[in-house]
Amino acid sequence: MAQILDGNRVRDEIKSELKPRVEALAAAGRPPGLAVVLVGNNPASEIYVRNKIKACHDLGIYSENIAPADAVSTEEMLEVVRGLNERADIDGILVQLPLPKQVDTKRILLAVEPAKDVDGFHPCNVGRLVAGLPGPRACTPAGILELLKRYGIEIAGKRAVVVGRSDIVGKPVAFLLLHEHATVTICHSKTRDLAAVCREGDILVVAMGRAALITGEYIKPGATVIDVGTNRIENRDEAARIFRHSADRMGVFDKRGSVLVGDVHPLDVAEIAGAYTPVPGGVGPLTIAMLMANTVAAAERRPGIC
Ligand code: NDP
Repeated sequence: MAQILDGNRVRDEIKSELKPRVEALAAAGRPPGLAVVLVGNNPASEIYVRNKIKACHDLGIYSENIAPADAVSTEEMLEVVRGLNERADIDGILVQLPLPKQVDTKRILLAVEPAKDVDGFHPCNVGRLVAGLPGPRACTPAGILELLKRYGIEIAGKRAVVVGRSDIVGKPVAFLLLHEHATVTICHSKTRDLAAVCREGDILVVAMGRAALITGEYIKPGATVIDVGTNRIENRDEAARIFRHSADRMGVFDKRGSVLVGDVHPLDVAEIAGAYTPVPGGVGPLTIAMLMANTVAAAERRPGIC
């Protein structure tokens, strides 16, 4: 059976390393500060934001939740962001996506001061990533690299295959792997014979949003498989098909009325891979940990701190 790469364990390690850094900043004047801007009432976004605020609280990071109404205009959002850019007590600004249709998301993300862009989405920071310069990295990709490194998984010289080319996961994780000297292939919905390309990966990172699509034939025996996908299955027949009627997994479904599944087939990966991230409990916990890490690093770059 493959080794499970435990995201909760790595998250706890990262958080315990951050704690003294937060305390040192607090002792030097004030703790790091994170502002989260959440527009409207999207239940999924509300859960993410609540978890982010809780993580701040656990670490002693000051956090503020700003909640413009659903009907907010681009101009009003720009005002919110500009206000936060100027505030000395705020080191990190996170604009929770998606924004409502009437708001020009690109303009909003561009308005965030790059030094406070703890999501790593500003083109300035994307440029720094591509050029291999220091700067905040997108949280999920940064978390994946932390996980690989902390489990001692060799990256240099390996074939890495990334499925998905989003700005949030696929592209940045591909660059991070490249900077660690992997030979990287990026796949997307137009890739021909995806299974054959994936089978070349010593490291396979999947971020597609397609429940359990990556079955055994996509996985090189012994590969390290990182499953970013988070798909909620609410149909019992579909859950039974994916979990091949496993009593354990169907027990979870019957208790909760739904079950989370990644983009990688959970039973196949456990049999074929050398190591893999489970869903839940793999990549998910690392995203918030890296947001905290980016916030602390932004605070440490404050004038007069270092
Ligand atoms: P996007 O929808 O932005 O991108 C999906 C990518 O997958 C696209 O590049 C798309 O190709 C590709 N794709 C879709 N279907 C196929 C297919 N059949 N074959 C090959 N490629 C395909 O998604 P995100 O990157 O934002 O997220 C991906 C998944 O990761 C989602 O399930 C999301 O919920 C999850 N996620 C989890 C996080 C966590 O913390 N655990 C954080 C962020 C995301 P094309 O470009 O050609 O359309």
